[in-house]
Amino acid sequence: MLQLATNPSYYPCLCLCLCLCLCLSTTPMEDENQKPHAIMVPYPLQGHIIPFVHLAMKLASKGFTITFVNTQSINHQIIKAQPNSTTNHDIFTEARQSGLDIRYRTISDGFPLGFDRSLNHDQFMEGVRHVFSAHVDEIVADIDAQSNPKLTCLISDTFFVWSSAIATKYKLVNISFWTEPALVFTLYYHLDLLEINGHFASIDNREDTIDYIPGVRAIEPKDLMSYLQATDISTVVHKIIFKAFEDVKRADIIICNTVHELESDTISALQEKQPIYAIGPIFPKGFTKGLVATSLWSESDCTKWLNTMPHGSVLYVSFGSYAHASKKDIVEIAYGLLLSEVRFIWVLRDDIVSSNETDFLPIGFEDRIKDRGLIVPWCCQISVISHQAIGGFLTHCGWNSILESIWCSIPLLCFPLLTDQFTNRKLVVDDWQIGLNLSDAKQLTRDEVEEKISRLMSGKTSDELKRNMKQIRKTVENALSRDGSSVKNFNQFINKVEIKIRKK
Ligand code: UDP
Repeated sequence: MLQLATNPSYYPCLCLCLCLCLCLSTTPMEDENQKPHAIMVPYPLQGHIIPFVHLAMKLASKGFTITFVNTQSINHQIIKAQPNSTTNHDIFTEARQSGLDIRYRTISDGFPLGFDRSLNHDQFMEGVRHVFSAHVDEIVADIDAQSNPKLTCLISDTFFVWSSAIATKYKLVNISFWTEPALVFTLYYHLDLLEINGHFASIDNREDTIDYIPGVRAIEPKDLMSYLQATDISTVVHKIIFKAFEDVKRADIIICNTVHELESDTISALQEKQPIYAIGPIFPKGFTKGLVATSLWSESDCTKWLNTMPHGSVLYVSFGSYAHASKKDIVEIAYGLLLSEVRFIWVLRDDIVSSNETDFLPIGFEDRIKDRGLIVPWCCQISVISHQAIGGFLTHCGWNSILESIWCSIPLLCFPLLTDQFTNRKLVVDDWQIGLNLSDAKQLTRDEVEEKISRLMSGKTSDELKRNMKQIRKTVENALSRDGSSVKNFNQFINKVEIKIRKK
């Protein structure tokens, strides 16, 4: 693809070449009609929308035209969360003003705006499973009929069950974007092996080490994703996973928000099956709040408070956007924080326990913490954890949070709640040794919370974690440097897309 020279001294020569080319012939990228045009459809959840938006920006800056599709509900929430509620509902307006060709559309997810998707999770997922594809089909047909440049690619979340059907129908290059680590991808990808070997879907699952997944030396059953540890495998999420991981086998290209060097065996084994590119971590430019709004909740400003705190003294606590914790665990964590006497910011969504249960903190907790702690419903996480006052992160182990924490060299205290978070913890605690496990017991206790927080924030264990973190941070930094693996993989991925477009 056409790479514009950044050295100004090249420009006269470049302009002459471009003029000659335009007069004499048209090469693919010079003909506006031939620019790659991708429709991008993220899963309608916070942790998926964020990397999708940053990927859209990155692709657009490489010359792609992007049509980004959010659900109406997600769009409504993002707009509502903006500080100055605006009538402009196009979150990419500023990105376009900066010269990027990103168009924005919204579609229904099958439910009215007022429907509580968090409280009615399974119904919502049934809708995503059964109804969503019809809305996607409709919008792809519309864009396909009138878009300029011509629509050429579909970039959809791997968890969608309809990608290959839509891509085939509209002759689009089918690109599956996996927003979690390659380890999680490969475990779902090889569900058949887990089943044959009795580690999944048998009445009495085996409890010994799993050592037969290509590219995974060993993993314990307790480290599998929650859906693979569940006894009831007839849920809607299971149905989605089964179908989605059949469908991804028909993808032309898979891209993964990870770093090759962090998961090299797993990625190499997957590459023998399908073209897969580790292009992560996909962060906003400069790791600062980008031009595009992505938060589903209003962000509380923590900077003023953080500015008054000593270097590395504050524990950041957040369980992400989606998982729920039990009231019992929230209470134990609250008391553990009190006992530890550490300074902290705690992001507590109103629905952290459930939309029905918003009174979950011990009575008088907020008075007892005084100005040692700040409780907010949501914040700009990357701004908070890149502040010099932050020294540790008590996390649910969402993959974005882990990548962001590595980038800021903040050691982790792991409290996984759901889905891939258990498997992500294995990478953090066992493989990379950049975090501690909060608890192995069935019931979390305040003493355990206090003890682990103290070990995370200072002393020998803390120093060790920080040393290991430095190494992992360096690996990620190298991957994102000019000749780094993620940069090379990104360019190879784009070349592959262009080859595939020509073949369609
Ligand atoms: N996040 C944020 N503010 C918060 C909590 C989270 O901006 O108060 C962002 C965080 O930076 C991350 C995403 O939301 O990019 C959460 O994704 P993750 O994969 O960590 O967890 P999930 O929400 O998907 O469980």
